[in-house]
Amino acid sequence: MEPQLAYEALKAFQIDTAYYQSLGALAGWDQRTYIPHRGHAHRARQFAALARLLHARKTNPQVGEWLQAVEGSALTADPESVEAVNVREWRRDYERAVRVPDDLAVALAQAQSEGESAWESLREADDWTGFKPYLKRVLELQREYAEAVGYESEPYDALLEDYEPGERAARLERVFEVLGTASRRILDQIMGSKVRPPVGILHRPYPVEVQREIVYEVTGALGYDLEGGRIDPTAHPFELAVGPGDVRITTRYYPDYFNAAFFGGVHEAGHAMYEQGLPAEHWGTPMGQAVSMGVHESQSRMWENMVGRSLGFWRYFFPRLQPRFASLRDVRIEDFHRAVNAVKPSLIRVEADEVTYNLHILIRFEIELALFRGQLEVDDLPDAWNAKYRYYLGISPASYKDGVMQDVHWGSGLFGYFPSYTLGNVYAAQLFSQAESDLGPLESLLEQGSFAPLLSWLREKIHRHGRRYPPRILVQRAAGEPPRAEYLVRYLEKRFGDIYELD
Ligand code: ZN
Repeated sequence: MEPQLAYEALKAFQIDTAYYQSLGALAGWDQRTYIPHRGHAHRARQFAALARLLHARKTNPQVGEWLQAVEGSALTADPESVEAVNVREWRRDYERAVRVPDDLAVALAQAQSEGESAWESLREADDWTGFKPYLKRVLELQREYAEAVGYESEPYDALLEDYEPGERAARLERVFEVLGTASRRILDQIMGSKVRPPVGILHRPYPVEVQREIVYEVTGALGYDLEGGRIDPTAHPFELAVGPGDVRITTRYYPDYFNAAFFGGVHEAGHAMYEQGLPAEHWGTPMGQAVSMGVHESQSRMWENMVGRSLGFWRYFFPRLQPRFASLRDVRIEDFHRAVNAVKPSLIRVEADEVTYNLHILIRFEIELALFRGQLEVDDLPDAWNAKYRYYLGISPASYKDGVMQDVHWGSGLFGYFPSYTLGNVYAAQLFSQAESDLGPLESLLEQGSFAPLLSWLREKIHRHGRRYPPRILVQRAAGEPPRAEYLVRYLEKRFGDIYELD
């Protein structure tokens, strides 16, 4: 077949697949927001049918034939051209899909969905013994999956590849070593500081209707296009891209706590702005897709933390916020800024501050690696978990629910996913530093409410490239050198050194 014709046929086929996927995404959004309680069983059957359809399309031998007709042709001669990128990434996706035997794919999907439901009810009941068999099953299948898709040095690398293409366990160990040592040092200094952020001011009455207006206002001001988005309330915030012109987020509201809705909203808006910045003309092909979970997370964390928790941002936004809440009338901006940056070792990852957050991830990474290197068994997980929390954070959970069972990830088979959160922080610090070199002092831009220059910089350096470069190369091209943890360390030292008056 003529290469151009093969490319067009393949592209049309893949875009159709993306339409089916995006209908699934819409059904997923509905399932996590407004579905009636009795609709869940039918929704699960819809998802199963869709999963069968998508698996068949992703492993369709015709895809392999089209790829063969295009590869090596003039169409892919320039490796950075749209066609070459799409073909390279379609090949990668196809090879990974066909290496997984159909019965393993079915078993994985089933075990993961059962594991997730089991986690939901058993976590509530703090029932580790009940949960263990589900976890063992998921882990066993994930090990089979790693063997099926293949790897160079170790099975864990095969799993990382699904979330952070090109990332390797050995390299992550070095990142976490640098970050772990620095985080514990900064945490020790903070614990010895006399500064006590007045966190109580965040736990006052904050009427939910006003919080909702504020979340719309701030995310819109930062650059989230609300004509192409919406913000709904959920227990677990998320961002979901249905397609061009429809990228949604959720956040959670508490009537007597400020941070959750505000920072949850800004975080998810960061994800949404990445999706809104992908080239719409390439939608449904790799050139129009986000490159990795780590890069995704770098966008959300940069807007949430580097921007949203900076003094510059609050100099701009606090005067707008204060008149709207009676609870803030007697609060000084410096105190508010300190409160939203308060650091305290805690048991729960999703509530962690910026300094301890990476230690939570480090613990999970070390445990996952030990599981996949055959150095740890599921039976010994709670002991390993508690020992690591004592070692890194000086505290230890009294229940499974606040310990080894706190995250949905393992029950749903998402091994290899956790490092993306820390990689997101690493990339974000490095990109933010480079943006500052290119744009001038960002604090003073933020202080004027000028957010567009940073967003345009991200659009130019990150968003518009889709999957053109692997994550490490993308960051290197944007920031001038490959990802390194030192930028994040410096950022943490500066921000928390100022706040806690450390020397
Ligand atoms: Zn996120």
